[in-house]
Amino acid sequence: MADPIKKIEVYIVDLSQEKPYLGDLKDGESVNDAGYFVRKGNRTVYPKNNRSIVVRVTTKDGVKGWGETYGIVAPKATAEIILDLLSCFIIGRDPLDRESIHDELYDLMRVRGYTGGFYLDALAAVDIALWDITGKISNLPLSKLLGGQTHAEIPAYVSGLPENNLEKRGELALSWQSRGFNSFKFALPAADQGPVKEISHLRNQLGDSARIACDLHWAYSSADAVKLAYEMIEDRPWFLEAPVPTEDIAGLRQVAQNSVSSIAVGEEWRTVFDARVRIDQEACHIVQPEMGHTGVTQFMRIGRYAEAHHLEIIPHATIGSGIFLAASLQASAALKNTTAHEFQHFIFEEFQHFTGKGLACEKGFYQISDRPGIGVEPSAAMKKKMELVGKR
Ligand SMILES: [Mg+2]
Repeated sequence: MADPIKKIEVYIVDLSQEKPYLGDLKDGESVNDAGYFVRKGNRTVYPKNNRSIVVRVTTKDGVKGWGETYGIVAPKATAEIILDLLSCFIIGRDPLDRESIHDELYDLMRVRGYTGGFYLDALAAVDIALWDITGKISNLPLSKLLGGQTHAEIPAYVSGLPENNLEKRGELALSWQSRGFNSFKFALPAADQGPVKEISHLRNQLGDSARIACDLHWAYSSADAVKLAYEMIEDRPWFLEAPVPTEDIAGLRQVAQNSVSSIAVGEEWRTVFDARVRIDQEACHIVQPEMGHTGVTQFMRIGRYAEAHHLEIIPHATIGSGIFLAASLQASAALKNTTAHEFQHFIFEEFQHFTGKGLACEKGFYQISDRPGIGVEPSAAMKKKMELVGKR
């Protein structure tokens, strides 16, 4: 073996911002002693101070690979899975065996039912880091390792309009349109007058050519989602996202089969098996893999499975430092059916300096880096915000 893995370090990165994710807290929403609050609109827990988990894997010869996963809730749980369990099955291994290592680690906990959740998040962080090392050793960007760069740039859609009223959300969207962005998505929990009024206002403001999607945050029954799609028809939603609870696959199929709009899902998936049970049932038209949950290996398997079924791929982009976003853009660039990628403008712009000049999104397009591996590393500014949880 040329250069085995020698060391793994796990960090929590402080990504706190003045305004919480999805905008200011609404009536009846408050932060508890542990720093969490629940959005009434989707009954989901968020931390007041955003954060993510970053791992650094180092080889015997000193090649460093970076990975990242979700750390927004109970980050030390995921960190401990990496430190206590995964590390002892990775150290001493050849990083070029990244995909077979991923499958071995997945197998370790299958019979106990750990086929998702925090366990797969931990795997995702390690997987991204091993792919990054593979790119650095081969001196190739990830997209080339994944079959080749199909896209030199990827259309970016402006996601979320975290303002307190409809007029201001419209103004925020217009300000992005003036910067060359013409694709948008609004989120149900922030649409205080309901999704029909929200899209109608945005359509009026942004004009006919804009693409406007609506994230329904798993809040509807299948029957109500179908009705809603008809109510929004005049304003031509680009797609409706996550209409029904994630476990209601039969309901999702009902919506996809009967709705006048395209249905997009996938941000919560960890593996191709999550994709398969929905795609096989023709329960969606667009898949939205999230690199922070899937890692490179599963992201590509989901993407290839979607392509084999002629579905569009519009990857999700969650709260992160830029490490998994860089990996996501590289993998997206290698997938022919990628038609756009989420752009979390209020995270991206504030933390762009965390990865130096490695990420670029201008005039409605992400540019794809040709640097080796995922193409980014933490800057000095990001390192100041990284707290070491442990190392092996
Ligand atoms: Mg969403």
